[in-house]
Amino acid sequence: MIEVQNLTKRYGSNYAVRDISFQVEEGEILGFLGPNGAGKSTTMNILTGYLSATDGIVKVNGHDVLEEPNEAKANIGYLPEQPPLYLDMTVREYLSFMYDLKRCRLDRQQHIAEICRLVKIENVYGRLIKNLSKGYRQRVGLAQALIGNPPVLILDEPTVGLDPNQIIEIRSLIKKLGKHHTIILSSHILQEIEAVCDRIIIISQGELVADDTAAHLSRRYSDDRRLLARIMGPEADVLSLLSHLPGVEKAVSLGEREPGVIEYALDPKEDADVRRDLFDRLASRGWPLMGLKSMEMSLEDIFILLTRERLPGAPASKKGGTN
Ligand code: ADP
Ligand code: MG
Repeated sequence: MIEVQNLTKRYGSNYAVRDISFQVEEGEILGFLGPNGAGKSTTMNILTGYLSATDGIVKVNGHDVLEEPNEAKANIGYLPEQPPLYLDMTVREYLSFMYDLKRCRLDRQQHIAEICRLVKIENVYGRLIKNLSKGYRQRVGLAQALIGNPPVLILDEPTVGLDPNQIIEIRSLIKKLGKHHTIILSSHILQEIEAVCDRIIIISQGELVADDTAAHLSRRYSDDRRLLARIMGPEADVLSLLSHLPGVEKAVSLGEREPGVIEYALDPKEDADVRRDLFDRLASRGWPLMGLKSMEMSLEDIFILLTRERLPGAPASKKGGTN
């Protein structure tokens, strides 16, 4: 449904987006996750034809955004980060105006009424937009995106600035819309993406660092490899033993977790299983192993790992994560 190939956007010598490629299948709800400044809005503005790319190709439903902008745009409903609302119009005037702007051919009355019912703004239909709460304004923004019944919806941080109840309502609305639309939704909030999306793309400093389902991401990065061991014994000596264990890349102490018991994190080398060795050596020193488990990484840990590793000013490095 959407195809993005080697998309790059440069401002002067700065890359806002760098060599991003991904696809969105029909019916998918794709989460576009990244910290502020990662390049989410830039990408969305390019997908929707509001901004031109420095390099790369974007196709929407087979139409190249550059070569066939009108056809491509007709397939997309866009809710930008700052919805283009006219505050001095009533909801009715605004939606009718957007209907004309988009040259919609569907029955005006019926189509707009249907959308208003769907996003639940019938009760403010006659009100001036400037008198609406932020939650209602966001719904009006969504209504505008739905005019013409485009198969693809692109929503840029649709819950920013809303209160918790409004957030829940907008999220469930997006899920509902996802039954009949392909959706790309951006957010810097992991929980939001996790709650709504089938698949997650993580971008950091303009680069794509992960593209997978939430479940796959968790599995891939926890990988059952990092171990947490609770050991009773003198901390410095235990740590030295762990660090010198064959197959251990790195060991760190996480501090006392129970009286006299210290927890350590062990990073094994690729494919090494250090458990048996660990047990034998601790036993020979008389230091009881009080607990051993693999460290499950939450999606949040992964997000932090993928987006915080590169510090500002550090050279960009390609990370695993795609394919
Ligand atoms: P996000 O939406 O993920 O917060 P943006 O796409 O808005 O990120 O911005 C990505 C990067 O591009 C940021 O570093 C931002 O400062 C830069 N940027 C965005 N727009 C412009 C512009 N018009 N001129 C120069 N730099 C820009
Ligand atoms: Mg943004």
